[in-house]
Amino acid sequence: MSPSKVYFMDLRASSEENLLKKFNRLLKTAHLVNLPISGRTVAIKLHFGEFGNLAYIRHNYVAELVRLLKEMGGKPFLTDTNTLYKGSRSNAIDHLETAFKNGFNPITVGCNVIIADGLWGFDHRKIEINLKHFSHALIASAVAEADVLISMNHFKGHELTGFGGAIKNVGMGCASREGKIKMHTVSKPKVNEDKCISCGECVRSCNYGAIKFGVNEKAKINYDLCVGCGQCIVVCPSEAIDIDWDMSVEACERIVEYAYAALKGKPAFHLNFITDVSPFCDCWSYNDAPIVPNIGILASFDPVAIDRASADLVNQASVNPFGPLAERNPSPGEDKFTLIHPKTSWKAMLDYAEKIGLGSQSYELVKI
Ligand code: SF4
Ligand code: SF4
Repeated sequence: MSPSKVYFMDLRASSEENLLKKFNRLLKTAHLVNLPISGRTVAIKLHFGEFGNLAYIRHNYVAELVRLLKEMGGKPFLTDTNTLYKGSRSNAIDHLETAFKNGFNPITVGCNVIIADGLWGFDHRKIEINLKHFSHALIASAVAEADVLISMNHFKGHELTGFGGAIKNVGMGCASREGKIKMHTVSKPKVNEDKCISCGECVRSCNYGAIKFGVNEKAKINYDLCVGCGQCIVVCPSEAIDIDWDMSVEACERIVEYAYAALKGKPAFHLNFITDVSPFCDCWSYNDAPIVPNIGILASFDPVAIDRASADLVNQASVNPFGPLAERNPSPGEDKFTLIHPKTSWKAMLDYAEKIGLGSQSYELVKI
């Protein structure tokens, strides 16, 4: 089988061609125009960023894509699903307000914003897949019902999957609340009591009332209530909460199966922005400095190839001397995502995605 083509634009620009014009050229060179857009609804799956986070994709690029899709006769809309954890995107009202404040509104992007799984995250359609972990997946209605799916992915580190790119954005990001719980159910965290300083951050942050202090004043998780959303891992200031390694491999496979369901039978296209590559997901209300300098934007019809190419580009890059990896000084080519999130396995995620036919890790990088 011939390698999948992944098109790449770097971020060099000039007075003749600014970055928006170059992005337009990337979309055309990568054959976006081959998608059946005319007269069709097109879901542009984005992460609007938690309020306070500034690493998400700039709305100007989204507006350029929307303009092109409308030129092609399509009916594009921006979309994302509600979160499991507390924050500014856990229901459609707060989520829309956050999207608008972060720059994604009809005036700036030229189309409407629809929260795909409804007011509280319960709107979904069952998609049959018959794979290892799930016979069917619960995909947010507005994504399931759209004719075409375009995923615009901010490529960055991720606490559960090592990095977040196309597969994570489409898999976890297109699931309804119940679907997300089914994926997270194997990745429940554990508290290391020796490291717990009893600060109470996790107790205050848990949306499910699943953490209380035990008699020894150390945090204790009630697994009957915990849905595995991972919020407590990120808020803990002393790294006392972590997930189980083997479980995170299974969680990755579950996300891959959901990506398979969201894309099943649907024309799709993927864009990875390797910019502001923060060590953690955009789900948190802050973003640490990028681990590498800005690299560029990738486009492909293959979600596995684009994620593999993005990971390789980041791992080949030198570290940002002002970023969180500067002191650790990884050797050239060393896997930066495993260095930051040692208990995760993005390679297992891509291997499984390849195995079930979602795409190929073999790619040809075409620089435009
Ligand atoms: S205990 Fe942690 S992972 Fe479980 S629901 Fe609460 S914040 Fe989420
Ligand atoms: S956030 Fe961490 S240190 Fe603070 S109470 Fe929870 S487990 Fe303990």
